[in-house]
Amino acid sequence: MKIKTIILIVTVIGSFLSIKAQSFSETQQDSLMGIWKDVTQQDTIRLNAIQRIAMEGYRFKNPDSALYYAQLQYDFALKTKHKNFQALALNTQGDYYLLKGNPDKSFDIFNLALKISEEINNKRTKLITLGNISRVYESKGNIEKALDYNLQILKISEDIQDKKGIGRSLADIGKNYARKGDLKSGLAYLKRSKNIFEELDDKNSIATVRSFIANVYMQQGNLDEALKLITINLAYFEDVGNKTLAAGCLSNLAGIYINQGDTKKALHYLEKALVHFEEIGNIPYVAKISQNMGQIYYEQGNLERALEYMTNSLKLSEVIKDENTEAAAKQKIGIIFTEQEKYSQAISYGNEALNFYQKTGDVMGVSSTSGSLTKSYIADGNYKKAFEMNELYYKMRDSLNSKENQKALIEVQVQSDYEKQKAIDDLNNEKKMVLEQQKTLAQQRISWAIGIGLLLSSILAYVIFNKLKETRKQKVIIEEQKKKVEQSEKHKEQFLANMSHEIRTPMHAISGMTNILERNKHPKSQDVFLKAMRTSSDNLVVILNDILDLSKIEAGKLDIESISLNLEAVVENFIQILKFKAEEKGLTLSYEISEDAPALIMGDPTRLNQILINLVGNAIKFTEKGNVKIFISSTNGQLHFEIKDTGIGIPKDKQKSIFESFEQAKGSTTRYYGGSGLGLSISKQLVDLQNGKIWVESSEGNGSAFYFDLPLTIPKTNAVGQRFISEDKLKTMAKSLKGIRILIAEDNPFNQMIAQDDLSYYIEDISIDTVENGMLAIDKFKSNNYDLILMDVQMPVMNGFEATKKIRDLEKSKGLATTISIIAMTASLLKTEIENCYNAGMNNYIPKPYKVEELIVPIFNELKSKNELS
Ligand code: ADP
Repeated sequence: MKIKTIILIVTVIGSFLSIKAQSFSETQQDSLMGIWKDVTQQDTIRLNAIQRIAMEGYRFKNPDSALYYAQLQYDFALKTKHKNFQALALNTQGDYYLLKGNPDKSFDIFNLALKISEEINNKRTKLITLGNISRVYESKGNIEKALDYNLQILKISEDIQDKKGIGRSLADIGKNYARKGDLKSGLAYLKRSKNIFEELDDKNSIATVRSFIANVYMQQGNLDEALKLITINLAYFEDVGNKTLAAGCLSNLAGIYINQGDTKKALHYLEKALVHFEEIGNIPYVAKISQNMGQIYYEQGNLERALEYMTNSLKLSEVIKDENTEAAAKQKIGIIFTEQEKYSQAISYGNEALNFYQKTGDVMGVSSTSGSLTKSYIADGNYKKAFEMNELYYKMRDSLNSKENQKALIEVQVQSDYEKQKAIDDLNNEKKMVLEQQKTLAQQRISWAIGIGLLLSSILAYVIFNKLKETRKQKVIIEEQKKKVEQSEKHKEQFLANMSHEIRTPMHAISGMTNILERNKHPKSQDVFLKAMRTSSDNLVVILNDILDLSKIEAGKLDIESISLNLEAVVENFIQILKFKAEEKGLTLSYEISEDAPALIMGDPTRLNQILINLVGNAIKFTEKGNVKIFISSTNGQLHFEIKDTGIGIPKDKQKSIFESFEQAKGSTTRYYGGSGLGLSISKQLVDLQNGKIWVESSEGNGSAFYFDLPLTIPKTNAVGQRFISEDKLKTMAKSLKGIRILIAEDNPFNQMIAQDDLSYYIEDISIDTVENGMLAIDKFKSNNYDLILMDVQMPVMNGFEATKKIRDLEKSKGLATTISIIAMTASLLKTEIENCYNAGMNNYIPKPYKVEELIVPIFNELKSKNELS
């Protein structure tokens, strides 16, 4: 009878004490101790009582008082040789250090407690201690270890059939899994835990586990399920009159609605939470909620309302000396003032926040405040300061290891679509990082053992709320940018397809007509004009191809071929192309292939040729006298190329940027030398695509050396793939085509002329019919016997695709053994267009504008494969 009364008194004193402990002096505490010392003589009751007082210290957030009593308890237990109480007191002390951010110290203390509990074989104390050690590991981020300990706890709890313990450890294990990212297992354990508490009808624990489950749902992005659970919890806590936890649920709900973009609902719930916290006098949370509401009003553009709430938050946090909330409020007030064009106030608030963050080493804080201060200073016209802040901002972002992301975010406004996509990927990564942080934080803060009676849900709510808010903003930006990128990506492709076709068609006419003029009889005096026409149209085609290539590379649509090549033939080919240019300028162009280089290699002839033409072409272009030397060797499984010139050289500071699109070493380059600044960029990307590397060594005035390495693969057989065709070979091919009958379907009369002229020039006795649309092509096909059809793709009345399909259908219905060869002539080189050609039943395609070999070789190959040639 006596004992019960005393415990009751102690509990009351305990709660009373811990609430007021801060204002008690030690002598007062001693005298209080004196009172109950006199009341009871039993050591265990005393020890129990101090234990409770200490625990109450945690409950009322007065850890210093908890530590004080725990030490008292330990000394007393030591004196009275109560080992179990020693272990318990140590656990309370360990809690203190863990709370104060000294996990190493708490780890040692807990281990001492563990030793004692094992010594006396007290399973319950051992369970508590193991739980505490697990929390230390959790706080250090070592979740594997924490999980180990929790599994041990589960086993012991099962051994001693402690159902409540089983429920708790299941929940802890569930949280560990969730934190490790294994949300599925996490959820399974949490659900098991909830079942146990349901069996025990332990409503409080059910609610707590429910909030953990809701947390996992949030992490899974399953906000609807989370919403359901939190709503149930809200009703429960309102029902039992637990305003604090109910307010926590309200904040959680607000967080979810913010994430779903429903700020109206979010405000509604925050308002309710605010009232709850005000009622229970929880000022820290009133301050925080006010700030969150201020933020929403700010985002809605209601600056006055925003300022009102932020100022309220600031005042409250000043009162309770919550410096973090205070700094955050100041930073945000600064932002609002900037928007209101009250720059000096904005700057002063911003700097106060910045000082605090710098003092506390809060990198995130410094980064965001310096970012907002940059804007304030710019608006105020103080560019020097703005620059300083901007620098600080980047430095911080750097240390947050996300400088690239931020740069990309800013550049998003000005850069090409390609850059935008990259920026978005980076941002997505950053978003992931923030979510990861959010997870870690939420999990760190929620801890079962300390959590009994603590503001579990509210802490969870705040962490998630704040993070969700940040991520939401990013999410909106990301979504918007993504949409824009996708749209512009589509437009770009369409645009390119159209433009390519539109430009190529007249280009083909110009280049083809120039050819015809050149080979027909003409006054010698016109040579120079014809040559100018030829060079100009060739240049235009190169630029057109470059732009198309670049967009193909960006869209990941450029495929690299790998066929067997004769290295020397590749080199000879581009030397033939460039030697005239070198001769014209009086330069010596020479090459050497080292003995160790294999004769045959695997590679993409077109792309290799393109890289070499770019590099050697540049060397010739930027060299006025001297020589251009090419050296090829093979080392360490790499094929190594060197292109050295004695030209103008490249300043050191430009040697990186010239590999970027549209970059030239000097602003005057285009004027003096021509070019678009695309060649090196494409070459680099082509080298990268083949897993090689490209670099330059040069100094201004002393010539340049470009190098590139490509991984070397030697073909298994000696057969050489399709390669560059010499004029002689072309003539031989053309000869074997003698007397063929061809139908040309082409609507453009110039193109008709060119094809006719080219074919008749090269192929003896060729008979050619021409029609201007697909429909007429079918008629002609029905009534004649052709060897081959050259089919333009875009034609009026019926296009080339359709006509081809109809012809193939006709052949099928007639059960013909052989089908006619149909070769597309297309001005669009986009992969989709070419795929469409094959899908329609065409056998090959010829690009427009074409080089003569591009016309003759496919015709030859087609007819040869059918043995139609002599
Ligand atoms: P373009 O030649 O069309 O301007 P590139 O991308 O091929 O574009 O080259 C980019 C820039 O790099 C050139 O404008 C020039 O300033 C510099 N450059 C490239 N090759 C050389 C070279 N061999 N010597 C000097 N400068 C060069």
